[in-house]
Amino acid sequence: MGQGLSCAASQEHGLFTAVQFGDLEILEAVLERDSSLLHQTTAYDRQSVLHIAAANGQIEILSMLLDRSLNPDLLNRHKQTPLMLAAMHGKIACVEKLLEAGANVLMFDSLNGRTCLHYAAYYGHSNCLKAILSAAQSSPVAVSWGYARFVNIRDGRGATPLHLAARQRRPDCVHILLDNGALVCASTGGYGYPGSTPLHLAARGGSLDCIRELLAWGADRLQRDASGRIPYMVAFKHKHGACAALLNPSSAEPLVWPSPLKFISELDEDAKLLLERALMEANKEREKSILKGTVYSYPSPSHSDVGIDDDISEASDTELCCICFEQVCTIEVQDCSHQMCAHCTLALCCHNKPNPTTASLTPPVCPFCRSSIARLAVAKSKGFDEADLEVGDVSSSKLRRSRRSRNFSEGSSSFKGLSAVGTLGKMGGRGSGRIAADNEWVDKL
Ligand SMILES: [Zn+2]
Ligand SMILES: [Zn+2]
Repeated sequence: MGQGLSCAASQEHGLFTAVQFGDLEILEAVLERDSSLLHQTTAYDRQSVLHIAAANGQIEILSMLLDRSLNPDLLNRHKQTPLMLAAMHGKIACVEKLLEAGANVLMFDSLNGRTCLHYAAYYGHSNCLKAILSAAQSSPVAVSWGYARFVNIRDGRGATPLHLAARQRRPDCVHILLDNGALVCASTGGYGYPGSTPLHLAARGGSLDCIRELLAWGADRLQRDASGRIPYMVAFKHKHGACAALLNPSSAEPLVWPSPLKFISELDEDAKLLLERALMEANKEREKSILKGTVYSYPSPSHSDVGIDDDISEASDTELCCICFEQVCTIEVQDCSHQMCAHCTLALCCHNKPNPTTASLTPPVCPFCRSSIARLAVAKSKGFDEADLEVGDVSSSKLRRSRRSRNFSEGSSSFKGLSAVGTLGKMGGRGSGRIAADNEWVDKL
């Protein structure tokens, strides 16, 4: 698309070139001479200067244009808004600025009937996705449409943002969407193969990480598309062997995030992070036997087999979990203040098969005192030194980033991952330096 823009721009008095390359001085000089040029659009695609600034991440120019009270919701030839283009190209500063200027998140393009949320999910820009979701929460859309409805908004062929993220192998976006109430078992209309669920599309795309996320959120391996295929058959057909193994209905069920439990849905960020990591790690342990094709044995929470020796000195300073005697206590049960490790907490709360009725009716109790669990929090362990605590307190955003990168740090033992908040912080650094290389309009299905 950059090609198309620059081509058109050369014919437009240098105006579009100046916008594309962020030359504020030239732009101001041009507008000084003729302020009506502000409303100029490119010849073919009818891109406004705002579109070009947004697509190219020219935040200074974008801010200047918005300050001149240019409508943030201008439409190009394909009825795309500047916000859609910024979300498509992952220009987070521009996305934030446009949202701040009141850009409408509920606009649909004329190509596929997609919103800015679809764009962010399709191209895998999780930061843009988050920004749009948090803006939607406080915008009139939430009131008029309902936030849950917005998260599950469908494009012209019935695809929700979750369908697109699953199909395009975007596990980070899959996670964020599920966390924000995306329906894990929604079927598409005409997108992909009719009746496909996000799990069918992840199977088609061949992303193990997406499949892990969806299964951990209770996606049903037995749900069929319109032609009667289960996701396993889709993965098998497209020769994604490892995906097919996980999706095979006869392989062991993964642990499922116990979302119906009140104290799980009200977890604070850090406790949630620890438990989610423990869940994914426990499921990866199960996967090992599935992928090896060996006989599967029911895992106890005490499954870690590697890495313990390396960290034994660290462990001796901290309090070991009194259930498994292997992991460090990271989770505190409230109100009784009993502590255990994240793995044991999950073993207590998780259900192999999602069963919302029983899960919400019989919440687990503390294994030490049998009192009912009101809340879970991060345990204040003696093992944390000052620096670790500081990291944990100051930047939970850092923690979140490190979680996003967890899928990329394959070899880390579960013990290391959970031993201290500080360790998570150090693991930081953005895992997702990926760039959407495919800028085509048409989905390659
Ligand atoms: Zn334990
Ligand atoms: Zn207790």
